[in-house]
Amino acid sequence: MARIVMKFGGTSVADLDRIKNVARHVKREVDAGHEVAVVVSAMSGKTNELVGWVQGTPKVVGANSPFYDAREYDAVVASGEQVTSGLLAIALHAMDINARSWQGWQIPIRTDNAHGAARILEIDGADIIKRMGEGQVAVIAGFQGLGPDNRIATLGRGGSDTSAVAIAAAVKADRCDIYTDVDGVYTTDPRIVPQARRLKKIAFEEMLEMASLGAKVLQVRSVELAMVHKVRTFVRSSFEDPDAPGMGDLLNPPGTLICDEDEIVEQEVVTGIAYAKDEAQISLRRLADRPGVSAAIFGPLAESHINVDMIVQNISEDGSKTDMTFTVPSGDVEKAIKVLGENKEKIGYDVVQNESGLVKVSVIGIGMRSHAGVAATAFKALAEKGINIKAITTSEIKISILIDGPYAELAVRTLHSCYGLDKN
Ligand code: ASP
Ligand code: MG
Repeated sequence: MARIVMKFGGTSVADLDRIKNVARHVKREVDAGHEVAVVVSAMSGKTNELVGWVQGTPKVVGANSPFYDAREYDAVVASGEQVTSGLLAIALHAMDINARSWQGWQIPIRTDNAHGAARILEIDGADIIKRMGEGQVAVIAGFQGLGPDNRIATLGRGGSDTSAVAIAAAVKADRCDIYTDVDGVYTTDPRIVPQARRLKKIAFEEMLEMASLGAKVLQVRSVELAMVHKVRTFVRSSFEDPDAPGMGDLLNPPGTLICDEDEIVEQEVVTGIAYAKDEAQISLRRLADRPGVSAAIFGPLAESHINVDMIVQNISEDGSKTDMTFTVPSGDVEKAIKVLGENKEKIGYDVVQNESGLVKVSVIGIGMRSHAGVAATAFKALAEKGINIKAITTSEIKISILIDGPYAELAVRTLHSCYGLDKN
């Protein structure tokens, strides 16, 4: 017998038929004798609709104000998960399964006070553990918890992944299964590279890079939590027949296992290729080369909530002037240029240049820690295709390359095949 947390995303609970299908997945695990907690998202599209109402889209008569109380935003947007948790419990009852719904405040899942983007601080798992032990399935509304002000708090978009992993850690589950509309994590985006392969396993660190680079399978925060608490997390499809052979396999269910790197015996050098679109590059020319310059640039940008990504500073030729290049999301360029302009005196640069519509492609793999020449392979392959590299940054397990937008797909395909990731 095992203790399993099963999380179902918005497309998996999009309507009553799909909720019934989810109930069959749950029944399979219950029938196998496992203790089960289920975490649900809202029906797909529901949270967008709720957010739209709060933001006063034309659907709300007369209102078009961005000003609203974040606590009331949470009261509204958390309701989508309340609905699906109740509906799933009812669907389980119809199959003669003992189940009850739980809202975040009932457990409680305690969060901090950052309404709309709250972080989970603590989960009291005692009640659900006791009920699971008595054979009751806990159907938990994802995405929500209880703030220190005693009000509902939501965890940021995509947050029910994080709810699931946090609950799995709190109840010491053997496994956390994230059911979604894809059947696992792929070596790259299969829409761009049809030869992309589904990974059997991926290390937490690698998944963190893949997730933050736009492989939108999981909320980044959930992967961080899984890594810290070593929660073995499966990404798998809810659209497969719940009773197909192998679906109930305890150790090797179909899907991708996100796990500790020690569990991955045959580690490839490169695990996957990720990309992030709509990047922009900003360069400050002829900066004074003295202490405090970087702080003078990136401090005000951070205060303006501009998310800076790649940062490249040149070594100055004679110790007096240098250049600094960094990337921001294209949508933030104007704001960034304005902030830099306001701080021109303090920073002390000559000109600022920028270019939008760029793409960052990244090669990810824990194996590159211990292998030489991984970067050189990428550069050579891109050169052969005539793709110009604008900036490069690296970490122990990642090489990121900034290129012109129109080359994105070619670059992803080229890198995918040059590391032998194409399935044969
Ligand atoms: N329903 C929420 C959202 O759409 C949370 C989630 O689905 O993970 O962001
Ligand atoms: Mg999601």
